[in-house]
Amino acid sequence: MKLLIFLLFSICKGFSSAERGYFWHLTDLHLDPNYTVTSDPKSVCPSAGDQLVTDAGKWGNYLCDSPYALINSSILAMRAILPDPDFILWTGDDTPHVPDDKLGEEAVLDIVEYLTNLIRETFPTTKVYAALGNHDFHPKNQQPINNNTIYNNISEFWSPWLNKESIPRFQNGAFYSEELVNINTGHVIVLNTNLYYDVNRITANMEDPGDQLKWLEEELTNASQQRKKVYIVGHIPPGYFEKKRQKPWFRENFNKRYVEIIQKHHNVIEGQFFGHHHTDSFRMFYSNSGNPISTMFISPGVSPWKTTLPGVDNGANNPGIRLFEYDRSSLQVLDAVTYYLNLTYANKEAPRWEKEYRLTEAFQIPDGSAQSMHIALEKIAKDHCYLQKYYEYNSVSYDMETCGDFCRVDHVCAIREVDFTKYEECLKTESSSSRPLLQKTLISLVLFLYLVLF
Ligand SMILES: [Zn+2]
Ligand SMILES: [Zn+2]
Repeated sequence: MKLLIFLLFSICKGFSSAERGYFWHLTDLHLDPNYTVTSDPKSVCPSAGDQLVTDAGKWGNYLCDSPYALINSSILAMRAILPDPDFILWTGDDTPHVPDDKLGEEAVLDIVEYLTNLIRETFPTTKVYAALGNHDFHPKNQQPINNNTIYNNISEFWSPWLNKESIPRFQNGAFYSEELVNINTGHVIVLNTNLYYDVNRITANMEDPGDQLKWLEEELTNASQQRKKVYIVGHIPPGYFEKKRQKPWFRENFNKRYVEIIQKHHNVIEGQFFGHHHTDSFRMFYSNSGNPISTMFISPGVSPWKTTLPGVDNGANNPGIRLFEYDRSSLQVLDAVTYYLNLTYANKEAPRWEKEYRLTEAFQIPDGSAQSMHIALEKIAKDHCYLQKYYEYNSVSYDMETCGDFCRVDHVCAIREVDFTKYEECLKTESSSSRPLLQKTLISLVLFLYLVLF
């Protein structure tokens, strides 16, 4: 009898552990090949622009993009933590933040090729689903919908990861879809959302650049008919940047279409994985009746580069990489563990990649489903402890300042509302709900001063 129980237990345990799969999400590596450790503050890294870099360390600097040492260390850390993931998502932005005339087409291709080879050599048997970032083109942000030298060369670099049919598809717009490796009920759709970026002049007056949205709908419809589940992967996310009020990336018409497509096809979408922000955040999608239907995970970048976007205060981050856990049969996101390198410590002592947090533990939620992420959002919105925790993770434990009311509204509304109109409404509602708290604090302060002074 005991043996029977043991066998049953072993079989059940075997099944349940076999169902949990793992994949890495790597994004925004931004290699700065000219990073140099020197005492001349003007010569450390071109990516710092005119800023003086006074404390350059071997592993990088918060004013600069990634040196080779940091990039290599991040990929090796992935291998040390989990060398055999089911697959890797790599969501682009490979080149440094420097003016176009300091980079050029050849340099862009050299960097993409270098990083591709590094990932392939470190994970020789792992399938990688790679997307292009807005920096992976020359001139930057100006990605076209037709065939060109950059798309053609990159499709060659990535050919070991791509199916034959995906190569011509990629060469004409840099988007494609693939079966999920070893899982015949899964599908990965890699989008080129750089086509929707509001600074992309080429696609400015187009209704559906490259017919990508039409294609996306067809892919999602096919997946539904074939009873498949889908992950959507891309670089620039729709909605707003949580660190700068009223700062979206997409043109409004594209943003609207994207939200409508997610609402219509959410039944087959089990997760969306994006980068570009360099910060750690997420975006919720709701049905018109207010039910949470999908989550977009925005993973932190490897580059620590402090953004020069006007209006963003102290926008650097520690380098981060993320391991997702998912159910291999349903594709449901079960958890996400973020690992990071404390750059200050690395330069002072040693490069130590360590666990920053586990999603389900940090926010006390059962898994990474849309329903659970909605609960996490509500905790962040209503409980200062959760807000503060989220805020510290947002910069990968770089900015440990208090997230006050203005900050709370920025983050909560960016997470909750991807739609432009609803985001504006959220700013009004959340700001007015913050006011009584602010008023109470001010009244207490006045009373305190009165008592102290008189
Ligand atoms: Zn980036
Ligand atoms: Zn980007």
